[in-house]
Amino acid sequence: MACRKVDRAIARKIIDSIDNFLFDCDGVLWEASKEIPGSADTIAALRKLGKKIFYITNNSGKTRSQYVQKCKSLGFHAAEEDVICTGHAAAQYINAQNLKGKVYCVGNTSMGVELDSFGIKHFGIGPDEVPGSIEQIGIQQHINLDPEVSCVLVGFDPHINYMKMTKAASTGAVVGAIKIPARKEPVVVGKPNSVMFDLLKKEHNLDPSRCMMVGDSCHTDIFVAQKCGMSSLLVLTGVSSLEDVKRYQDQSDPESKFNIPDFYCTDLKEFGNLI
Ligand SMILES: [Mg+2]
Repeated sequence: MACRKVDRAIARKIIDSIDNFLFDCDGVLWEASKEIPGSADTIAALRKLGKKIFYITNNSGKTRSQYVQKCKSLGFHAAEEDVICTGHAAAQYINAQNLKGKVYCVGNTSMGVELDSFGIKHFGIGPDEVPGSIEQIGIQQHINLDPEVSCVLVGFDPHINYMKMTKAASTGAVVGAIKIPARKEPVVVGKPNSVMFDLLKKEHNLDPSRCMMVGDSCHTDIFVAQKCGMSSLLVLTGVSSLEDVKRYQDQSDPESKFNIPDFYCTDLKEFGNLI
């Protein structure tokens, strides 16, 4: 499959055929708390052309409203309904399941705020100290398990420890560590899974063939775009390089082709200069 560098003709085709641009954030729009130069101007130029802009991020450390604040502070126009992050998507997903009981959240305060916004009962955020002596650790009777827990939600948790892992036994390495003793496969809300795009699609009635995902990671952003029928644009300001793309092109595994973007450009500034 070809992955073409965006030139003026391709940029024109993209603008003609795409109504909705979905942007990953870290490594595309900003690096930590600094705008990647030119990206805010490109978003503004797309908006001027009447394009709808969405922000879609795997980072569970912020609420939607905190993302709006961050966008604004770095010069990106955003409203809450334009942002989807894993904390919000997970709360929305759990809410749609109509679960009875509580959520045990191995996560952070922002995830708690998102659960609260749907009125979902939860606990577990913050430190959970190991009680008693070291010999007692691992003896289930010394750990109070709440029988009302019907769901375990796992995200970025700065306080993860043995107690939490045992209680959850039910992000990434933490999910891996928890899913084996829990003997349950998790529903993964973040990219490369399609949960966040599915929620966005439903809420905004999006036609995937008129959507483009712009990201810096072949494994998450580009994969979800290809799986969901969106166009995809890789920017080389973050995780993935052209060597990675080449490696995916050379692999015979059929899943590898989903990691190959339709287009690439050096950064968003370059794309902005072509539209
Ligand atoms: Mg990224």
